Amino acid sequence: MMEKEISRKKYPAQTRLQYPVVTSCYSCDKPIEGKWDSTIQLAIEMGELEGEAKSRFFFHDKCIKCSPSRAQHIVHSRFPTVKDDREQYNKMFWDKYERSKYEKLYTNAWVSLQEKYNPKWVK
Ligand SMILES: [Zn+2]
Repeated sequence: MMEKEISRKKYPAQTRLQYPVVTSCYSCDKPIEGKWDSTIQLAIEMGELEGEAKSRFFFHDKCIKCSPSRAQHIVHSRFPTVKDDREQYNKMFWDKYERSKYEKLYTNAWVSLQEKYNPKWVK
């Protein structure tokens, strides 16, 4: 009983809030509106983040369009067309089967983020 009381006092309300509360994009410095606009959430949705990589990545969130290596694969009327000019990442240099495979994966992951988290998203 006693212990419960004490531990509640040790952790004020704001530390119990889920991270990230308000995060700015590491790249363009605009606030990331929500999980549906977060590169981290997209990577989680894609199953790309595991263990330590996950915690390191968490400090440098970006909005999705600021992560061209991923965003270029999202092909959707409600997402801006993003191009990755770096030759080693640019999907235009990829084999077309690989390209369409990743377009499907990333577009589906992005749509699923919108459906889960974006309050303005209408199917
Ligand atoms: Zn950004």
